[in-house]
Amino acid sequence: MSNIGFIGLGNMGGPMAANLVKAGEHVHGFDVVAAARDASAKDGVQIVANARATVENADIVVTMLPAGEHVLSVWNDIAPHARQGTLFIDCSTIDVASARQAHKIGAANGIATLDAPVSGGVGGAKAATLTFMVGGSTHAFERGKPALERMGKRIVHCGEAGNGQVAKICNNMILGASMIAVSEAFVLGERLGLSHQAMFDVVAASSGQCWSLTSYCPVPGPVPASPANNGYKAGFTAALMLKDLKLAKAAADSVKADTAIGAHAARIYERAAEEGLSAEDFSAIVKLVRNRSDAR
Ligand code: NAD
Repeated sequence: MSNIGFIGLGNMGGPMAANLVKAGEHVHGFDVVAAARDASAKDGVQIVANARATVENADIVVTMLPAGEHVLSVWNDIAPHARQGTLFIDCSTIDVASARQAHKIGAANGIATLDAPVSGGVGGAKAATLTFMVGGSTHAFERGKPALERMGKRIVHCGEAGNGQVAKICNNMILGASMIAVSEAFVLGERLGLSHQAMFDVVAASSGQCWSLTSYCPVPGPVPASPANNGYKAGFTAALMLKDLKLAKAAADSVKADTAIGAHAARIYERAAEEGLSAEDFSAIVKLVRNRSDAR
């Protein structure tokens, strides 16, 4: 049994911390929001007074926070109070520059560090089936892997500091763009008289096949488990997709990578936000494509 500190007990962090408890770990948790603390207390997390208190006697400290600024602020606060050799793992999705800065905060305080963003959403967090994309030294990776395995199914070492975040934004840049492309194809097909099922049957077995079509189809019917069949209840919100596309754009600008489609996908998700789709699943982008087609 390890002592694990956990900071950020929200939609993702709450169930992740609960899975650590279920696996027999001793978890000290903190969140700035009382409702999150109360929910985690019911799951067996021992709630402490503040973020610093989570690091006392901790072998590992996990953060699951909204953005880079929160991670840097929390790590700067807690790192000087952690035991030498403690392992900090940030599982938030944050910008690559902040992730690399966080590793530097750890190094300056004698702390081992990993960036380990996830895919799999709230469902994966609850079911402990997340994929972790991990950046950091091989030694830190080997130390952190058993704890990550308690919260996820696939743990992939992507290389040095920050590379977990790089893998995450590359994946989500493809995902955002492919969801728009699949949605455009459905709307084009429907306007030309092609049924959703016929398009699905052909494309799912053809070269246009992709996860956005066959696992997460943006129109109701062909894939019963997709959010389209459940009023586009997220899942993974359009707001989070926009966040990740903006992170990808910022990273691309920082290294002068030409990601024209990724940048355009960010603009389309920005429009979705303007039209009130932020809280819906990101596959609701098909509604924007349809509305804008109707308006032409
Ligand atoms: P959330 O807003 O539900 O949870 C974040 C939690 O952090 C909140 O409870 C908030 O109160 C807490 N917090 C903020 N600042 C804090 C501080 N200084 N100290 C302690 N607690 C603090 O968000 P979420 O959906 O759980 O997402 C967390 C991270 O995971 C984000 O970076 C997000 O991009 C990423 N992510 C989310 C999903 C998803 O489907 N929700 C999927 C993959 C990745």
